[in-house]
Amino acid sequence: MPSQSEKKGKLYIVGIGPGSVEQLTVHARDVILNADYVLGNDTYLDQIEELLTTQNIYRSSMGKEVDRAKEAVKLAENNVAVMVSGGDANVYGMAGIVIEVAESNNLDVEIEVVPGVTAMLASASVLGAPVVVDAATISLSDLLTPWEVIEKRLSAAADAGFIISLYNPKSRQRTSNFERAIEIIRKFREDSVPVGLVKNALRGDEQEYIVTTLGEVLEYNDWVDMRTAIVICNSDSRIWNSPNGDKIITPRGYHRKYEY
Ligand code: SAH
Repeated sequence: MPSQSEKKGKLYIVGIGPGSVEQLTVHARDVILNADYVLGNDTYLDQIEELLTTQNIYRSSMGKEVDRAKEAVKLAENNVAVMVSGGDANVYGMAGIVIEVAESNNLDVEIEVVPGVTAMLASASVLGAPVVVDAATISLSDLLTPWEVIEKRLSAAADAGFIISLYNPKSRQRTSNFERAIEIIRKFREDSVPVGLVKNALRGDEQEYIVTTLGEVLEYNDWVDMRTAIVICNSDSRIWNSPNGDKIITPRGYHRKYEY
């Protein structure tokens, strides 16, 4: 067995941010450009297409995450292998499964996780300042998490006043989860609290957003899809009818101490 220093492989798990290539960190960009292999699903590889020139590419479809992770771990033994993941790799991303597979295969090369801008923060940036205070992300996908657990977390987060960022609101198979989640949150929050819906955040011309309230958000139920992130605010938050369209502000509390 060669010692660690003689091995030339390395495994990177890279968050490529929410959309356009400009949203990648400089480090993520460098890592991708210098890879021997880049692995990912079609959506993510298309997102960084302009950076894929000389690297070998391993494409696999959504739902094939485990196979892709195994392939990355195998390639990393002797190559610089880069697994790309949308947004941040730790937020419902590929960091988990790739590191689990590396652990079970006793992969003996360095692993580096490169962070990226996650959907909660990309959508928050579109909406203004809706987060700023304590926040919880909750995925509504019940493929790997039982729905009862998701319901419990929704109730707890809503009860505790967290700003709630919903991921995976819908898929082709799961069209009612978003509606069910809103009904749960409404048990704990006033209908007047602001809600922001952002589709394709920071993906150039594809980006769209809606500012509404908890009481009215289900009027946009049909508009919400798997490319949408939702920010449910709390009773401190307010809608600002700004000259550039409606935005959301969640005051952190400066107004209680300062004048401005
Ligand atoms: N790792 C990713 C999240 C993967 S889960 C991240 O950190 O962002 C996939 C869900 O993320 C989608 O269903 C959607 O709710 C959200 N999402 C990802 N990118 C988005 C974007 N650019 N705009 C809006 N929502 C996005």
